[in-house]
Amino acid sequence: DELISQIAAGEVVERPASVVRELLDNALDAGASQITLRLSAGGVRLILVEDDGLGIPREELPVALRRHATSKIASLQDLESVGTMGFRGEALAAINSIADMSLLSRTESDPHAWQLDGRSGELKPAARARGTSVEVRELFYATPARRKFLKTDATELAHCVEAVRRHALVRPDVGFAVWHEGKLVEQWRACSGENAQDQRLADVLGEEFIRKSVAVYYESAALREDGSPSIKVWGRAGIADAARARADLQFAYVNGRYVRDKVISHGARSAYDDVLHGQRQPVYALYLDVDPARVDVNVHPTKIEVRFRDSREVHQAVRHGAENALALPRA
Ligand code: ADP
Ligand code: MG
Repeated sequence: DELISQIAAGEVVERPASVVRELLDNALDAGASQITLRLSAGGVRLILVEDDGLGIPREELPVALRRHATSKIASLQDLESVGTMGFRGEALAAINSIADMSLLSRTESDPHAWQLDGRSGELKPAARARGTSVEVRELFYATPARRKFLKTDATELAHCVEAVRRHALVRPDVGFAVWHEGKLVEQWRACSGENAQDQRLADVLGEEFIRKSVAVYYESAALREDGSPSIKVWGRAGIADAARARADLQFAYVNGRYVRDKVISHGARSAYDDVLHGQRQPVYALYLDVDPARVDVNVHPTKIEVRFRDSREVHQAVRHGAENALALPRA
């Protein structure tokens, strides 16, 4: 089982940023409103994620580290409509098999926190406000070959920050802070109100992004069983200055999950074909709300890829959304 966990870990965990992504997903699933990340040596030495979410009850702490232990789905039917970021119960078990891990957590009803050592399984009383701290030390300590593939601390840190950025862009209601070697490197305060989403986009991507982009909105005429549009697209899209055009200013989300998807990126680009002439890249942060029955999120270990039942429908929705924003004539 240890070996299977390590193999699963290889699929899920490529570098410190992969751990960060999984731990952020868990914190958000737990309803956190503030998440703090503390890193050392680009995350290789230490990744500590602290949240103020619901916490893990004492008796569930050891279970959380077990493979296929998830508190999030109870049946295969749930898998069709997962509302949480995690659902496979693999991440913590995988990380625990390739690093020194500890969980420190306290729920509302606990008189104090509990700390679980991932290696020894020892559980002892500890101090902490409600929420969870997950500590991951010495990633890949047992697999030096893997560790050798890691880049410099600065590069690994940049990947970790990028992972936080991806989460921050879709959760403006949550505050995020990133510390490296005891220094604050990024901080995005929780935003509220009508402009929360644009405020967060400006905070994370810069005022420039807001100035160069326009609001996108599209709702399909086709409806779901409950009467809501089967697909909705919103966010902002635009074209960066030639000199600043960067493919890394392209963010797409499906049902709250960051994805890299060719259908979406092509849909966005096709809206700009007339103006881009293949010279520049569009920049965008697009949020798609797709009927869960029409998208499969369970196709890739890192959940970064999705499969749409009807990719043409998605392509058109994105394209029309971006075109509407620019008031470009439709083909
Ligand atoms: P999954 O997210 O797919 O359920 P994980 O291995 O990531 O699996 O986590 C296992 C379980 O541990 C979760 O289902 C959840 O019950 C618990 N858990 C993990 N992290 C947190 C957290 N930050 N706050 C509360 N519960 C957590
Ligand atoms: Mg998870």
